[in-house]
Amino acid sequence: MIAYMPTIYPDELVYSWFCRYYVHSGCFSHKMALQELYCKKSDYLNKEFIGNLNHGAIEQIEKIYPMDELVVDHTMYPQYARFIPLEQKKDALYRLGHEPCDVHHLFCVLPRNEGEQYLRFCPMCTREDRERYGEAYWHRKHQIRNVSICTKHKCRLKESTVPAKSEQSYTFFPAESYIGNSETVIESDPLVIQFSEYLGSVFDAPMDFENDVPISSILYDGMSRTKYLKPSGRSRYTKMFADDMSEFYRSIGMCNVASMHQIQRALLRDYYDFSVICQIAFFLGMRAEELINPSLTVEQIQQEQNSHYMKEVVTVDWETMDMEMAPILEKLAKGVYDGTGNENGRPERVSERLVYREMGLLGHQLENMPRCKAIMERYTESYPESWARKIVWAYRKLKEEGEPFHWTDIRKISGVKKKNMQSVIPYLGKHADVETVDRIVKWLNVC
Ligand SMILES: [Zn+2]
Repeated sequence: MIAYMPTIYPDELVYSWFCRYYVHSGCFSHKMALQELYCKKSDYLNKEFIGNLNHGAIEQIEKIYPMDELVVDHTMYPQYARFIPLEQKKDALYRLGHEPCDVHHLFCVLPRNEGEQYLRFCPMCTREDRERYGEAYWHRKHQIRNVSICTKHKCRLKESTVPAKSEQSYTFFPAESYIGNSETVIESDPLVIQFSEYLGSVFDAPMDFENDVPISSILYDGMSRTKYLKPSGRSRYTKMFADDMSEFYRSIGMCNVASMHQIQRALLRDYYDFSVICQIAFFLGMRAEELINPSLTVEQIQQEQNSHYMKEVVTVDWETMDMEMAPILEKLAKGVYDGTGNENGRPERVSERLVYREMGLLGHQLENMPRCKAIMERYTESYPESWARKIVWAYRKLKEEGEPFHWTDIRKISGVKKKNMQSVIPYLGKHADVETVDRIVKWLNVC
């Protein structure tokens, strides 16, 4: 039973709000606070969204704030869902507030790069919050991918020590305790400021739940006013565009510049990453308003659709694509394999299907990319071996938690079916020490 919920602050992350709830409610342990809010021990929680709340918590929270409002105004939804197709956008809104869901199934959440690993804060906002509210909190706008400054104060954001991604064991890190006093560095590059303000204003704009204008059409329209699209509208110079754009963003010190492949996909309408699309639009000189409130006619949308049949001036350059994709694939595969990239932290088998889906590749494209293919081969394993790894992982996780547990807990957390249990035995030795293997085998033999 939730005793008392503090008021949520403007632009505060729900995660931050729950951290403050934990501090103010008098819950003496994380476990207690977690039980009041969430469903079960194994529920993962995501700092950018809300997580799988229990019914009681939803009911009580809805008395104060409707779930939809919380999702739109207090999670990173306006970033990840901004450019996805309308139906998908509505579906994501509902599911984020009402159903247990893995956000990776709702939209694309790219792996985190350098500079995006920890929750960030603005030293000046912190000072103001402390004066005004008596405490600091985690702001959403400081967490937008690829934005390096606070758009309100034009000063550089600082990284805290609190990991931004979801973790295996969830912890409340209230901003007040994790943000110290730090010096303010004002950003001097006008382009960095302009770019950050651009992303900030797109992020802040109300979400459109009525019109379904494909983002690829909007970008096509923007591109048609530049040298990157032939006046006939029938061929585009994607390679030149990608090169110029990359040079531009590197010159302002941005590290996560959209790749040629990401640009191609965004232009061909199956890619909706916020940062990639904003990078393209900003570089094309499009006004933020064009992204937020597009005023395209049906004919203009149709024209863009027809353009999908046009010939690219450059055909796919497999060598470059392979080089570009290999590090991304390596990161994805590793995260899936050891679980660090998965929402619940559980290791998974790296299947081709998953890789094709997550990387947005078309059938058999991996065949043309030897570096990527080699990575895939390195991660290939049989089902029984992947089950063995899951069981070892679940065993270690439960052991770490330090409470007594039963064999069925391992089964539940690992997700391995009972009938498959025996087949894992030959693989245990490869992934655990002798003592752990002994323990697990003993268990397997009695269950
Ligand atoms: Zn600020």
